[in-house]
Amino acid sequence: MAREVEHLLGLMLRAGTTAGPVDLEAVEMAVRCSMHQAGAAILSQLLQFDPPGSEQRQLPCRCGHSAHYVELRSKPVLTAVGKAECVRPYYLCEHCHCGQFPVDVEIDLENTELSPGVRRMLAVVGQEGPFQQGRQQMELLAGLSVTTKAVERTAEAIGEDIEVRQQRELQRAMQLELPIPMGPRIPILYVEMDGTGIPVVRKESEGRAGKQDGQPAHTREAKLGCVFTQTTVDEEGYPVRDEASTSYVGAIESCEEFGRRLYAEAWQRGWARAEKKVVLGDGAQWIWNQADLHFSDATQIVDLYHAREHLWSLAAKLYANDSPAQKRWVMVRKDKLDNGEIEALVASLRSVVASHPEIAEDIRTEATYFQDNKQRMRYPKFRQQGLFVGSGVIEAGCKTVLGRLKRSGMFWTVRGANAIIALRCCQLSGKFEDYWEARRALSHFKVAHPGQWWAMVGQW
Ligand SMILES: [Zn+2]
Repeated sequence: MAREVEHLLGLMLRAGTTAGPVDLEAVEMAVRCSMHQAGAAILSQLLQFDPPGSEQRQLPCRCGHSAHYVELRSKPVLTAVGKAECVRPYYLCEHCHCGQFPVDVEIDLENTELSPGVRRMLAVVGQEGPFQQGRQQMELLAGLSVTTKAVERTAEAIGEDIEVRQQRELQRAMQLELPIPMGPRIPILYVEMDGTGIPVVRKESEGRAGKQDGQPAHTREAKLGCVFTQTTVDEEGYPVRDEASTSYVGAIESCEEFGRRLYAEAWQRGWARAEKKVVLGDGAQWIWNQADLHFSDATQIVDLYHAREHLWSLAAKLYANDSPAQKRWVMVRKDKLDNGEIEALVASLRSVVASHPEIAEDIRTEATYFQDNKQRMRYPKFRQQGLFVGSGVIEAGCKTVLGRLKRSGMFWTVRGANAIIALRCCQLSGKFEDYWEARRALSHFKVAHPGQWWAMVGQW
């Protein structure tokens, strides 16, 4: 083989020198192509399975009866080195007419013509950017031709598989079956959550109220949560997030479902053994409802910058088109907010004389907002403890994790969006490698213990 390649390379380089300078790119791509062809031929040989021996001519079927060997059947397989062919035994159950390819299960080729290596690549490019772009990346980076639909289907299928596994973990977490994970000391563990609109196809938003009265919503709210740890503060006393400690979960789902999802994640990250626990969020009521429900032993903090925004938007109403006046008005009250003197802030808001009943109503609403969140706004106390008072991590997370789904011209089904969110969270949390390992282990388990596997599937 090596000699053949050397010969090929020699021919191409010589061809280059006679006709002018060597076009290295053309040569390297041609070499890759021929390497691929040679590799695919080797893989095809490897994927030729023999008919079963006399003692393996029948297998247990999921219906309880037996499937019998029928014949060898072949299918094309796109591998990391191009198109190969897989020939493997086919079994059929006469009782329920269910066919089986045990080899497909073992080598993770069940119901697909894409090899595990190729599917992994498709998952990576599919979670990163538009599927069309993924197709182009596959062509350029891997020398593989796939359809845009294949990128989409594969990324979504893997995302859905990740989600199925997460739901199983979540069930166990809710039934308190999960052991407290062991690990190094966790001085401070943070949980942050936020929501943002994802553009969806019409059928997913029909009948839902939009942001403007009477307008149909073209988005659905995706909720994102993150968990990270903090061990130290810097020289100036500001908190420092532990490097690579952030993990994400998210989905378009109800507050209750999301609360359970985030709880399970926090639990796996060591919530039960963290020395200090903090929940950070903006003022949205659902966040604090879920925090009370699942993270009742945490210090709750309203994002300071979000709270300041409330003052700015009120100032804009009080002094429309007068920005110096807005600034003066905010400065006085911002100090109270920053100093955690929320009672004084509320009193000062309530003493404002409004020129208009609508503005009076706005003032009342804002006063209530600060009043209700006062314990979550004791910023000097939080700072003294070296804690974060801004939820910048989750805001950045919304951009990184969910920005992929918000590019213009994209409209999602809830199912498709959730699959990509699951895949992207897995990838950005550094868990994809673990997922892929677990998946391989499961393939081997399915083959070694088919009866047990089907019993488990039945329980889910
Ligand atoms: Zn059967």
